[in-house]
This record gives sequence, structure tokens and C-alpha cells, in this order.
Amino acid sequence: MRASSPERWQQVLANSAYADALRSRDSSINAFLEIDTDRRHSHGDGTSPAAAGPLAALPLAVKDNIAVRGFGLTCGSRILANHISPYDATVVARLVAAGMVPVGKTNLDEFGMGSATEHSIAGPTNNPWDADRVAGGSSGGSAAAVAAGMVPLALGTDTGGSVRQPAAFCGIYGLKPTYGTLSRYGLVAYASSLEVAGLLSRDLAILRAAYEAASGADVMDQTSVSLPDAASRPSDEVRRVAFLGGELGLDQRTAAAYRRMRDVVAATGAAVEDIELVTAEAVVPAYYTIAAAEASANLARFNGVRYGERPVFAENPEALVRQARTEGFGDEVKLRILLGTYVLRSGFQEQYYQRAQRVRTAIRRELASVFARHDLLVLPVYPTAAFRHGEAELTAFQQKLADRFTTLANLAALPALSVPGGVCDGLPVGIQAIGPAFSEARLMRFAELAAAELPPQRPPGYEIELCDEVIPGGRT
Ligand code: GLN
Repeated sequence: MRASSPERWQQVLANSAYADALRSRDSSINAFLEIDTDRRHSHGDGTSPAAAGPLAALPLAVKDNIAVRGFGLTCGSRILANHISPYDATVVARLVAAGMVPVGKTNLDEFGMGSATEHSIAGPTNNPWDADRVAGGSSGGSAAAVAAGMVPLALGTDTGGSVRQPAAFCGIYGLKPTYGTLSRYGLVAYASSLEVAGLLSRDLAILRAAYEAASGADVMDQTSVSLPDAASRPSDEVRRVAFLGGELGLDQRTAAAYRRMRDVVAATGAAVEDIELVTAEAVVPAYYTIAAAEASANLARFNGVRYGERPVFAENPEALVRQARTEGFGDEVKLRILLGTYVLRSGFQEQYYQRAQRVRTAIRRELASVFARHDLLVLPVYPTAAFRHGEAELTAFQQKLADRFTTLANLAALPALSVPGGVCDGLPVGIQAIGPAFSEARLMRFAELAAAELPPQRPPGYEIELCDEVIPGGRT
């Protein structure tokens, strides 16, 4: 499979047909909230001599909870419907410095809360593999845009799986890096202690180059860290690999893909062992307690005064705030804010929030002991492949329970990579590897091993990239 080449995209970006082609390909998917290919926002054209590397002239799609100067920043929410960002997030600025050109903002669940990209003022995003199914969430627009060949790389955020799960549903790679290695400056915060910016691509070389370009300490984010030098980072060896044993509650497609991945890894000569995690049952309750608590504090700034649409008229300041929030937030966001304020109530903190923090420590310790014996832990991303729109197949509550495999890495602040695990019965299935802190190179090595047997595939109808379509006769 040919990698996206910068020269080809350079021609495409200079070609006015690109915007139209992007829009027409997006009409059945609804991945984008905003498309701009005219460089209205003067982010450079990717041709500066400083940017001659592997990312030069590649178009970049950015999830709409990450700031790009001059673009909207709606977070999929009515309360920010008219908000334009005056600045670039650090991750965006670094990718632009490496030559990338932001071309649009992608759809998401409101403020990143959800697993299906259905809670958005812009309506749902459809999965390019089957438009009746969800693209996953909350970075569903970013995943669908990459899977449908509209852009070679997209940015997302992963608080509890929002990069890996849509990547899995759309058949591409999704990297949730080690907490702190990608600056959060310019990300609209949902749950600060859990979330990271993440990268989605179908091309491992681009994913790796983007991680290298975007990572590292940032003075604007005190939780950001520099990567340790190469000698002190975990090696990229994949020799001892843990899988989860026991009953995992997977659908048929996912169970088959997980077994297959175990065979693929074993065939590389790695020692494969099935383990069980004693903290497994407590992962989802701990995640939702902490995430909701942090969300209720982070979203307090959207009150129609500091941020957010302000009602035209209100009797008094209290009524103004109430009206702004009642009208501005969707139901899922309100649910999380109520849950968060509930678990933080005075007198109840010990019962819920503090207890969840202790579970979080136990999860970290258990994973540390796994990585004392194994190089990687390989597990499903989600118990099902992409499900149908609406709640007929998975209710909102079941969707939350299904976050049990992804939220683990967020609670433990560890890196995880979702890789294509084959296409079963017409739908892609993703399998993820989690590694110790700063083991991104090892995760990519795992992805290469898997790709030798299970290369990423394109959804039917989207076999070629948009750049091949836009450059007449450009297909090679
Ligand atoms: N589904 C999870 C949630 O709704 C994950 C969201 C995310 O990673 N942003 O909280």
C-alpha cells in the first residue's frame, strides 16, 4: 500500500477542486463541522523550506475541541456554537511547523462525552464502512475522515478511549500517548487528569512522524513532560506479551479478531501468556466517577459570562447562568455535570471520589506489575464492532460499561495504540496494545508486526485517497 506522499498532497492543496471533493465525499459521512481549504487562516501552505520532512504539505483534520486559530471551536455544543478560536493548540502549532495544513474541524460527541459521535449539535457521523452504523466516539469525525481517505492524519482527544475506539470502528490506527507527552494547551478540558491529545492515521510512518513532531514539554502546560532520551525509554522489543484470559463478554467478530491477534503475535516467536486483572471490575466505576467529577469543575466556565452563548435577556445574573447552561448543554453533558457534583458533595467525597482515586492507584499498581513481567498487554478496544445508530444495539448505559478496556490506560496514564485487527463480516475490528510509560516505539513495533498479517484496509467505495481523485489521472 502506497503511503500518502507530500508532493501529491501539495498538488492537491493547490487545486481548488479539493474543497469540493472533500465536501462531496463528506456528504454521506458528516465527519466535518467546518472545511477550509483556501488557507483563509494563513497557516502556511506546507511548502516552507523548514518543513521539508515527512509531514510537509499533508492536510490535517482537527477534532473540534482542539483550538486552531481562525477556525470554530464548538466542541459539538450549542453553548459554543459561535466560538472562534483566537489561537492554536500547541499540538496544532507543532504539526503546522512540521508542514501540515489544517483543512477542517471534525465532529465529536459534545465536549468529548460519548462513544458514538451522536451527541453533537451537528448530528451524527456515519461510519464509512456502513453508514447505518456509528463511527465510534468521541473522535468519530476524525476517525471517519481518515478512514474515508479524506485526510492522512487527524487529531483527536482520548479521555477514556475516544481516539482508540473510533479508530477501531473505522479500521485505522489510533494512538493515545503517555499522559503529558502531548501538550494539552488548547484542548478544551473534559477530565484533565485522564485526557491526552491523540493521533489517528492509516499510515504508521505518518503516525510516528506526527508523534515525534508534536510531543515534548510545553511551557503552556505544566503537566507536559519531555520524552526521556532514547537510552532510558523502554526498548521496542515485543518478546513477552500478555493477553486477557477468561470470559470477556465480546461479540463474535471481536472474539474472533482477538484470538487471531493472539495467533499472529505467537507466530512472531513472542511468549504469549493469558492473565487476569483483579481490578477489572472496578475500572468503569472509577473512570466515570473521576471523569464526571473533573467535568463538573471544568465545565463551570461555560456560564454565558466567561464563556458560552449569553441569553439575550435574563432577570438577574443567577437566572442568566441557569438559562445559558440549560439551553446550551445537551442531555449527556448535563448528566455528567450532575453526576460530578453529586460525587463531590461535601460529606460524600470519601464515599465516591476518594474511593475512586484509591481504585485508580490499585489499577496503576496492577499494571506496573504486569509490565514488570511483560513487554505489552494486548486487549480488545471495545467489546463490539461498530454498532448501529441509536440505542437499539447498545444503550447509553451499556456504551459506558463497554469502556472497560479503553479507560484502563487513561486511569494509569499509560500509552496505548489501537491497531486494525482484520475485517470480520464487513466490519473492521480494532485490537489495542498498552505498554509502560514512554513505550510508544514498542507500540509501533507491535503495530508493524500485526500489519504484516493484518494490514489496514479501506472501506468499500473509499478505496482511493482523495488526493488520487483530485489529481486527474493521479492514481498510481
Ligand atoms: N466514552 C468515554 C466517555 O464518554 C470516553 C470519552 C473520551 O475519551 N473523550 O467518557
